[in-house]
Amino acid sequence: MALAPKGLAPGSRIGILGGGQLGRMIALAAAPLGYRCHIYAPENDPPAAQVSERCTRADYTDIAALQAFAAEVDVVTYEFENIPVEPVAALAQLIPVRPGVDALRITQDRLFEKDFANRHDAPTAPYHAVTSLADLQAAIAKLGLPLILKTRRMGYDGKGQVRIDSAEQAEAAFKQLGSDLLIAEGFIPFEREISVVLARGLDGAIASWGPVENIHRHHILWRSHAPAALDAALMDEANAMAQRLAEGLHYVGVLAVEMFVLPPQTKGRRILVNELAPRVHNSGHWTMDAALTSQFEQHVRAICGLPLGSTERLADAVMENLIGDEVDAWPSLLAEPKTKLHLYGKAEARPGRKMGHVTRLYPLGQRPAS
Ligand code: AMP
Repeated sequence: MALAPKGLAPGSRIGILGGGQLGRMIALAAAPLGYRCHIYAPENDPPAAQVSERCTRADYTDIAALQAFAAEVDVVTYEFENIPVEPVAALAQLIPVRPGVDALRITQDRLFEKDFANRHDAPTAPYHAVTSLADLQAAIAKLGLPLILKTRRMGYDGKGQVRIDSAEQAEAAFKQLGSDLLIAEGFIPFEREISVVLARGLDGAIASWGPVENIHRHHILWRSHAPAALDAALMDEANAMAQRLAEGLHYVGVLAVEMFVLPPQTKGRRILVNELAPRVHNSGHWTMDAALTSQFEQHVRAICGLPLGSTERLADAVMENLIGDEVDAWPSLLAEPKTKLHLYGKAEARPGRKMGHVTRLYPLGQRPAS
């Protein structure tokens, strides 16, 4: 089905690379707009396939399977960023892939990502590329201690990173990460962590839900408080920074930008970019229940060439992830007033695994302190 100026017609098919809960929630949001979803994932019984019309089970590097997939759908998106770039680039020769391949290439690599952010007036922690122990020693001399050594690629939920407090720890830290594609970052004494989730449409329009505050436990997002408790100037700065990044990437779809907020006594900029996610994001889940348009609907609108919806917040909200066996509390969570439960359909509640989330709603201006 051709992409008409008004966007993809209802009945068109959206292909989603990745079968996790993000793909599941995209598919659930696509249905009321009349779209059908086709999941492409290597796993058995991916959560997204439970709510989608079709599923191809194949590896991300299987070019023949990707070509067959492309022939069956009208637009392709991805729900996680660690897909190999080359097959996605090949797919993009056949069919629109949104967000584009450049967004994937840049956000897959912490070094490319930081170079990109700094070029777009979105400052980050000071950093130094590390491919050897000698580089790491140079990084310590340049950035000081403590610092955080991270793998450039495939890191998530705190995996692939180690904090270095003394020069003696350098060698062990370097060996522990088991890669020579690393980045050392100066340690940021942040006051809080926030993220901006926004969408950019095919026509270049941008709509943001504004900064939310994120609280992590064991390196995994635990709670997002919407809105963040920041003064208006910092809210505007965070939004403007995220917008510059979306524009610089010629982005189409939902983009999340994770940021650090430095304490008030900081000299210089108080907001630093930590990480970009070229996809719908856990810190945007609250929008399903507390905003006029959810991040999932907005992503579908953007990639299908429809106008973006209003991001107006209808209530304040605290989203809480249900990790591992926390999901067993679902009966009591369902009994809470003004609480919405979302389960991801995963069979096994392994430790650290995101099984679902709840969003607790509060009247505007009355969300509890973080
Ligand atoms: P990341 O995987 O880069 O998002 O890092 C996971 C978490 O580690 C962040 O949410 C922060 O809490 C912490 N962290 C990462 N980088 C830094 C840094 N440069 N300084 C201080 N804390 C950091």
